[in-house]
Amino acid sequence: MLVRLLIFALLVWGAYYLVKKMIGAYRDYLEPRQDQNGSVSETELIRDPQCGAYFMKQQGVKAVIDGRVVYFCSEQCHERYRQSRGVK
Ligand SMILES: [Zn+2]
Repeated sequence: MLVRLLIFALLVWGAYYLVKKMIGAYRDYLEPRQDQNGSVSETELIRDPQCGAYFMKQQGVKAVIDGRVVYFCSEQCHERYRQSRGVK
């Protein structure tokens, strides 16, 4: 009798855990959290990996390098960075 109760409790807990996980995944799908994929807001200050200057993301030059989104303060820095890394 007690074993049955234990199994039942385990099943209920398992179902509850699954539902909770699904709701969490659904929420993330509806409103993805900013910090999860490392993205920054439009007005956040970010650093140019080429010259080290800080600038606002919305004023930067966006580029995808090795599958990663990188922002530069200017097109010149973008070009220099690509050349220094041998990216054509
Ligand atoms: Zn720069």
